[in-house]
Amino acid sequence: MNLILLGPPGAGKGTQAEGLAKRRGLIQLSTGDMLREAVKAGTPVGREAKAIMEAGGLVPDAVVIKIIADRIEHADCANGFILDGFPRTLKQAAALDELLAGQGKKLDAVIELKVDDGILESRIENRARETAAAGGTPRADDNADALRKRLMAYYRETAPLIGYYFAKGKLHSVDGMAPITEVAGSVDGVLSALAAP
Ligand code: AMP
Repeated sequence: MNLILLGPPGAGKGTQAEGLAKRRGLIQLSTGDMLREAVKAGTPVGREAKAIMEAGGLVPDAVVIKIIADRIEHADCANGFILDGFPRTLKQAAALDELLAGQGKKLDAVIELKVDDGILESRIENRARETAAAGGTPRADDNADALRKRLMAYYRETAPLIGYYFAKGKLHSVDGMAPITEVAGSVDGVLSALAAP
């Protein structure tokens, strides 16, 4: 099963993708995580992405499309994957369609996590606080300024994907504001309904 988790920053895509990957034996593919690793490792991609990510902008389409193209052809993706944070633009979505068609794969569903803007800011603040309390380093883009830019990028570039996938009959929206386990239950409900004859 190949899935996309769609939603604004702080909607819980990473948390839900991680749980779903474990429950269903799927591979979680987070372009944000891959880019953060590239930044940490100081690779050419990381050097190109660092300042853009810190400012809350979007890394160029060609860069992320190449990352995903290389990743989904790995053998571990054969049983299915969950895309978390990709695609984020219509260009990326079109590239994904081509990639999947080229590999004889299909997209089973796009799950949109719906969360009000007002809640996103406090979630991002909490994530930064909890990471620091656990002795970690909060993400460089988990602050009010970068969040505003990430939200703008979401509404301008990513929100149009909701219509794109609705038109393809792939879109399933769930309430992302409920407690984590309830959201997970809603996501499982969508997938069970898909599997039903
Ligand atoms: P995330 O962890 O998904 O919130 O992503 C963190 C940051 O990585 C984003 O704000 C972007 O700067 C960058 N990024 C992640 N995925 C993409 C993507 N598909 N397209 C462009 N930029 C991305």
